[in-house]
Amino acid sequence: MTKRIFSSFLIVVLTVLLASFTIILGVLYNHSASLQRSQLLIELDLAASGVTAGGEHYLSTLSPDGYRLTWIAADGTVQFDSSQDADDMENHAEREEIQEAFATGYGESARFSSTLTEQTLYFARKLTDGTVLRISVDRDTALTLLLEMVPSLIVILLGALLLSGMLSYLVSRKIVAPLNAIDLDKPLEGDAYDELAPLLNHIAKQQRKILSQRQELDRQKDEFFTVIANMNEGLVLLSAQMKILSINPAAGTFFSTDPECVGRDFYTIERSRDMDRALQATIDTGSHELHMNRNGREYQLNISRIHADAESGGFVILIFDISDKYYAEQSRREFTANVSHELKTPLQSIMGSAELLENGLVKGEDVPQFVRRIRTEAARLLSLIEDTIHLSQLDEQSELTLEPIELYALVCKETELLASAAQTRNVTLTTSGKPVTITAAEPLLHEIVYNLCDNAIKYNHSDGTVTVTVSETDTHAILTVADTGIGIPQAHQPRVFERFYRVDRSRSKETGGTGLGLSIVKHAVQYLGGTITLESKPDQGTVVTVLLPKQH
Ligand code: ADP
Repeated sequence: MTKRIFSSFLIVVLTVLLASFTIILGVLYNHSASLQRSQLLIELDLAASGVTAGGEHYLSTLSPDGYRLTWIAADGTVQFDSSQDADDMENHAEREEIQEAFATGYGESARFSSTLTEQTLYFARKLTDGTVLRISVDRDTALTLLLEMVPSLIVILLGALLLSGMLSYLVSRKIVAPLNAIDLDKPLEGDAYDELAPLLNHIAKQQRKILSQRQELDRQKDEFFTVIANMNEGLVLLSAQMKILSINPAAGTFFSTDPECVGRDFYTIERSRDMDRALQATIDTGSHELHMNRNGREYQLNISRIHADAESGGFVILIFDISDKYYAEQSRREFTANVSHELKTPLQSIMGSAELLENGLVKGEDVPQFVRRIRTEAARLLSLIEDTIHLSQLDEQSELTLEPIELYALVCKETELLASAAQTRNVTLTTSGKPVTITAAEPLLHEIVYNLCDNAIKYNHSDGTVTVTVSETDTHAILTVADTGIGIPQAHQPRVFERFYRVDRSRSKETGGTGLGLSIVKHAVQYLGGTITLESKPDQGTVVTVLLPKQH
């Protein structure tokens, strides 16, 4: 801006300067010319009077200064010249001013030198005797004057340059200062030029619009990030060049990385061959599904290609934790296989014994033993089917009626049912504690107490004891079943709650166990919102503790 102001100033100053200079030069030149002309005419008139009176003698007495006198006869011959020998001079009859003087009594003309830097003015007057007296003078032309003035002109121009430079600096500073003072973030504040008001108003309006659009964008972005940050599913956005554009915390946990990885290559956080193949398949087909196991959990990854132009396209990876469904399906498959197997064994035994009896291959005295085996195996089958039904009922989580139940009374009732079994095995079964009322479903409490006490009797030594205790805390009822039996080796303890898991298959079979008792107990405890823990030492005994909330 300062530059522009400076050049404008310079142009104005120079134009004004040159124009004034030309005008002044012209006026002065004309004025001096007319002054010179009148003086010369006076001189000419004086000389004419002198020549008329004194002839050539008069002329020879004159010593003209700055001008030249020439006396020309009527035939054009030069009779006298003040600066040259008249005899050497050519006939002047053809000269313009001479001709004019002969014709009209007065003539004048001007002729330029060959360099155009000088001009000779001629004034001629016809005398009474028919001769002509001419006065001439050399004078500089306007061009010569101009050339003479060039040095001073340069000085004046440099002065003008300096002046315009200073002026433009000061003026531009003054003009620019209010413009520089405009705060474009607050264009309406400040004291700028009135002429800028429409522009500043427009800027302010645009700024308000941009601000509201930016706030809306920020709001939408925050909303988006809040949603993806709180999603249980993992979400990763990749660019077409496989750079990580966004990754939410769930995906960060899956890939064991942090948000710092944004902007890095995806292969720096996941370099498995499965993922590589899945991404390649996604490039080829547009989408791909992949299953992965991480930290004991099963995940499903849906990879999709985002269709956009080559620059903004990319990939979306959605990660679902499908462990519950996956393991439920797996355990259902295992359960079906186990049930079939468990049913097959007693059925084969029953079929075998029945066939032998049918074909009369059993001796008379052995018949009761075969019949007993058939009955025992059939009883096993029945209890297996009953347990399976109980488990599937619990699996379905069908709504059971919850009601206040006094736990200690229920324990006493259940132990009474098991008294004869305990007696048969020579195990002392005792109960202790106090009445504790909880909100529960009686069938579930029956499964819990019965199965725990049954196990404590079954896996006990002869002369062993089983102690069932009921106590309470402020919030929970505590049921403890302690025995002095064979115990469970440490390695088996975490698995005894699994379906069909038995520490010693033959012993369990002998005692009519199905391997489902403890898994039914665990299921029932969980249904009632409680917890179950087991402590056991081989050959010393086992203590199972169940905590059940008083209010469900
Ligand atoms: P089962 O019908 O075979 O008794 P459970 O699910 O009730 O099946 O128990 C699983 C296994 O845990 C049993 O086979 C047994 O080996 C072991 N077990 C359970 N309770 C006891 C206990 N009180 N003492 C020793 N072993 C036990």
